[in-house]
Amino acid sequence: MTDLAHNLQTARTKIVATVGPSSNSRQLLSDLTTLGVDVFRINMAHGSPEQHAQTVATIHEVSIALHRPVGILADLSGPKIRLGQLAEDPVHCELDAEFFFIRGKVATRPMELVSNYPHLLDELDIGNRLALADGTVGLVVEEKQPDHLRCRVVLPGILRSRQGINLPGVKLSVPSMTHTDLEHARWAAQQDVDFVGLSFVRSAADIKRLKDTLHQHGSDAWVVAKIEKPEALENLTSIVLAADVVMVARGDLGVETDVAEMPIAQKRIIKTCNLHARPVIVATQMLDSMQHSNRPTRAEATDVANAILDGADACMLSGETAIGEFPRESVTMMGQIMQFTEQTLEESSHSEPVAPPVIGVHPITSATVLGAGVIAKRLHAKLVVLATLSGRSALAKSTQRDFVPTIAVSDSPSILRRITLFWGVTPVLGLSSLSNEDLSAFINEWGSQTGLLTRGDRVVIVTGSGLVPSANNQVVVHEVEGVGG
Ligand code: ATP
Ligand code: MG
Repeated sequence: MTDLAHNLQTARTKIVATVGPSSNSRQLLSDLTTLGVDVFRINMAHGSPEQHAQTVATIHEVSIALHRPVGILADLSGPKIRLGQLAEDPVHCELDAEFFFIRGKVATRPMELVSNYPHLLDELDIGNRLALADGTVGLVVEEKQPDHLRCRVVLPGILRSRQGINLPGVKLSVPSMTHTDLEHARWAAQQDVDFVGLSFVRSAADIKRLKDTLHQHGSDAWVVAKIEKPEALENLTSIVLAADVVMVARGDLGVETDVAEMPIAQKRIIKTCNLHARPVIVATQMLDSMQHSNRPTRAEATDVANAILDGADACMLSGETAIGEFPRESVTMMGQIMQFTEQTLEESSHSEPVAPPVIGVHPITSATVLGAGVIAKRLHAKLVVLATLSGRSALAKSTQRDFVPTIAVSDSPSILRRITLFWGVTPVLGLSSLSNEDLSAFINEWGSQTGLLTRGDRVVIVTGSGLVPSANNQVVVHEVEGVGG
């Protein structure tokens, strides 16, 4: 099978995979891309900018070699309080054991802990509870001294360097973007990454600030708002509208808010994103046990399926591909669950496509794309082709959630990398402004190359318009000739 044909046969829901020691080689990045990863996430909280620059370069090389646009998400850590370097990494925290938070940046003994937040020792009090490593380890402050906090383990588990510290209910004086975040945003702009994640978003203003910083440094990367604070749930609609993409960041959401309320919060976030045509990623622990097992638990398989049924555009792998023993198996499994779930979605979708009005997309484009979807379904078209300049028509198409295979053709690698996150749309490198003759030649050639089209197959094409100067879009139905059958 050719690379192009293969790319069309992966899941319609997109896969985001975190890069880390388990995946940070050319071979692994290539394998994971072939197995279905659409976007790689680089967590700026770990590793060094030099390492990350190498990762970005390798992903671009792999993407070109495989003829598959691959997006890159640089995830800024935000004002997240994290452990510093542990003296012993990882460290096992036994129930009732004592640990000491000390000042400074260096822990020299195994029971010492340091953090990246200089005021931690001042702003915490006896009785405060610390949730570490996504809430898997719990400590309680028992003694406060000028140079240390003595804490006791109330929830045992394993800690690694730079894992997160949440302080549910404790009000801290942290800014929305730290000095390090600003440096990383500049780095991301310089590296021309496609998506920049902003952690601990509290308001639309936080997103605007990051966008301004990116613009100042010549980047129009899309901002991914990570919903993980109670304040973000309160300001959800304005945040969704200010963001380009949204992430249900369940790692911290499940610690910062009541974990019992999180499943319904997930559905509400996804629904709001679907309504406003913002691609939405569901993240954290989706196949968590696959870090150490080649099979997921039943609950995890169900979680991926439910995220798709909720309306997610993409699902994310974190530790599974960053530090897990089975990165390939994790991607394969996620893809299989997606494809099976999508099949049942397809079987139950008898009606013609309906799409919400897409804010930020021209109403003519929206309506034309919707019409193309209806035509494609009625004519049992084999393919919908969108020639797209900005990627906006691809986003409008994606919101329809229909099952006619859809490709978005553009000559801009950066637009194609953005489309990697759009549900059900496969980005393909080609010409974006074509005459009708050029387009049909392109499709005939593409059809014969991929083996996906035979004579008589119908293809619905949406292009910009060369017809009259004032027109915005046109729809063309093409019957394939001269290839295959
Ligand atoms: P966040 O709270 O922002 O989600 P995290 O610390 O939970 O971040 P993940 O991105 O979920 O981290 O990755 C899971 C684990 O993989 C991390 O805790 C870290 O131990 C490891 N990891 C991720 N990226 C790297 C990297 N570039 N180098 C080394 N280890 C990494
Ligand atoms: Mg995490």
